[in-house]
Amino acid sequence: MIGAEFIPAPLILQTLSTPGRLGRGERAKIRDIRMNSWERIEAAVRFERGDRTPVFVICRFVLLKQANLPLPGTILDARRTADLEIEGRRRFGWDFVYGRTYYPFEEEAIGATAQFREDTAPSIIPPYTIRTEEDIHRIDPEKVRRTRGLEMEHRLVAELARRLAGEAHIMGYCQGPLRLAGQLRGLQQMLLDMVVEPDFVHRLLAATTEVCILRALSALEAGARFIFIGEAPASGDMISPNLYEEMALPVHQRLVRAIQEAGGRAVLHICGKSQRQVPLMARTGADVLSVDSGVDLAEAREMVGRQALLLGNVDTINGMLRGSQEEVEAEARRCIQKAGTEGGFILSPGCNVPGNTPVENLHAICRAAEAGFPG
Ligand SMILES: [Zn+2]
Repeated sequence: MIGAEFIPAPLILQTLSTPGRLGRGERAKIRDIRMNSWERIEAAVRFERGDRTPVFVICRFVLLKQANLPLPGTILDARRTADLEIEGRRRFGWDFVYGRTYYPFEEEAIGATAQFREDTAPSIIPPYTIRTEEDIHRIDPEKVRRTRGLEMEHRLVAELARRLAGEAHIMGYCQGPLRLAGQLRGLQQMLLDMVVEPDFVHRLLAATTEVCILRALSALEAGARFIFIGEAPASGDMISPNLYEEMALPVHQRLVRAIQEAGGRAVLHICGKSQRQVPLMARTGADVLSVDSGVDLAEAREMVGRQALLLGNVDTINGMLRGSQEEVEAEARRCIQKAGTEGGFILSPGCNVPGNTPVENLHAICRAAEAGFPG
């Protein structure tokens, strides 16, 4: 417990850097108050302040670029990916590591063709796998269970969990049911189907949800306690709140429940201008709502109260990629001010950070957290 003994982070840093001025007892007390990443995240989950706001940054492509490693050579290499994540955390000071492979093993097992590139995630190229109602039967979790990609991701999470036990949390990953359906059917076609063939989409999403659950449970079994659900097509830029409620909410509720029943915490990530989606996101029961910079964090907090943690939302493009470090730091501090003065908040960019993001901006986001709580 921190309570009345809480000392703001800048004071801790100041005093730790000038230990000669303190007695031994005082130094020990300050060391006790400084939390490790695991404790800091658990404090945020309990809606307590902790010693500072925990930080999560998805920036695998920056880390690969810095290490001069092309993605295709490492995408199925659990050991190298774990080294990269652990080194990134050590260097920048964030609190989670990311237990995800970018290999599109689910799509490939179901029959899709991927195109690999050096500096960004692989993409699925046409022709798409799901063309008719009958094709839905091809979405069989058993095919995905036997893939090298799932096996590698399991090893990656297990390795991270072994090396960071009790020290930091592993953020596992699964695709959202709409995202996977879009990969298999073609995103535009799936969005169109939602309006003209809703029953077909319900059946398609029921099938993809089972694959999403398989991947999430694999990561939990390997030692992750949080699962990041990447669900870009549920964005307010793509579908209306009504379509969300009809199409996405039931499958999100099923996926979140499966994660929680296995002892995990679900982090539902939806990109873009999704303000009107937030109350529906809360109804999924997800433990953490990850919202992009298109959502105002103060309004989101107002809408969800203490029902869920919030995660976000420094602008990925105008802030992280194009902004100065001063701008990133100021925006990150505003995020803490809006959503995190009472815990229940994880500071993060709004979405996946592009590979050519300046590293100074990755430092800047952690500096904002280190500066302590405003007010
Ligand atoms: Zn996103």
